[in-house]
Amino acid sequence: MQKKTLSDIAIQGKRVLMRVDFNVPLDEEKTITDDKRIVEALPSIKAVLENGGRLILMSHLGRPKGKPTPGLSLAPVAARLSRLLEIPVIMASDCIGTEVMQQVLAMQDGEVIMLENLRFHPEEEANDPHFARELASLGEIYVNDAFGTAHRAHASTEGITHYVQTAVAGYLIEKELRYLGKALHHPERPFIAILGGSKISGKIDVLENLFNKVDALLIGGAMIFTFFRAQGMATGKSLVEDNKLELALNLMEKAKEKNVRLLLPTDVVVAQEITAGANCQKVSAEAIPEGMIGADIGPETRERYRQEILNAQTVLWNGPMGIFEIDCFAEGTFAIAKAMAEATGSGATTIIGGGDSAAAVAKAGLSGEMTHISTGGGASLEFLEGKKLPGIAALND
Ligand code: ADP
Ligand code: MG
Repeated sequence: MQKKTLSDIAIQGKRVLMRVDFNVPLDEEKTITDDKRIVEALPSIKAVLENGGRLILMSHLGRPKGKPTPGLSLAPVAARLSRLLEIPVIMASDCIGTEVMQQVLAMQDGEVIMLENLRFHPEEEANDPHFARELASLGEIYVNDAFGTAHRAHASTEGITHYVQTAVAGYLIEKELRYLGKALHHPERPFIAILGGSKISGKIDVLENLFNKVDALLIGGAMIFTFFRAQGMATGKSLVEDNKLELALNLMEKAKEKNVRLLLPTDVVVAQEITAGANCQKVSAEAIPEGMIGADIGPETRERYRQEILNAQTVLWNGPMGIFEIDCFAEGTFAIAKAMAEATGSGATTIIGGGDSAAAVAKAGLSGEMTHISTGGGASLEFLEGKKLPGIAALND
């Protein structure tokens, strides 16, 4: 990796200002329903504390639209972190200002302060330089470990780096770059990617970028119906993007030019309606009945994709194969998750990018069986598109 990390710097006695992604889900009572994001930041947090640093944490939470919003305070997060670390975590009343400055200047080695929600200030998302400078003044070293927001040039991710001497990556970002970066730049081959999800329009740039990298692309999700329709096949009432038919044909052409095998399903699961009680049927991809909606890949396709996965050394997956939120359309997605778990077991590198895909793997109970599950939905997608993530580009080389 070309970026400096926490391992490259001296921390003892220093005020370490760390951007984390503590944007956790909260229920009505403001209880954290999933603390995965806090747990994932622990390696960097512990490294700072164990090396005698003074840790100042900052994050956003929800969408307060630039105004202080009591329901979106980071106080419950500070409490949960305190329980995980088994030491007190001081909750600041704001993220900038004289009171906060006095608090951080009074810190001792090994102490932790959680700043209040960055997005209580509109200047955060506007990447306002004065706000960025105020944040920067709180610390002596800046660490970015918020992969989930690295694709946004905000004051706490990009602007701030202009006002600090030392700006390094935390261990979570380092891990993301290690796996995603290796897959894109030096994959062990065969390297295949599986792409699904709802719309082809959201994945065009990913498809285009992956054509230059992979040996095969396995397609699922709703975008298959746009490929089908483009080839003149009947698609019933499936989700088709009519203005992307040409694009679908171009993509198929491009795959040929680049010698990438582009695999489409040969059978699909269809139903009259997308509901839990729907009557699901398996049909050939060439025989989708009128009025039916395609909502998953069929069993023949699942087996074919499984063989591809087991023959690969690197497997990258983004986007569910079907409407996995409903049981009878979840089998295709689960089959991919299972095959990837099997591949991990035989030594392949398996990587999941995308929020819904990660949720699907968790629902299948296979999260522990993948080499890497990216923590950033939008950020991992932009990375796969080959874009520079501003929050990472801004760190010290
Ligand atoms: P990710 O978050 O992993 O990048 P996406 O957001 O692109 O994934 O897509 C996830 C959504 O795609 C899911 O909510 C799923 O229901 C939907 N989806 C998958 N297959 C179909 C289909 N055949 N028709 C409609 N929606 C689908
Ligand atoms: Mg999604």
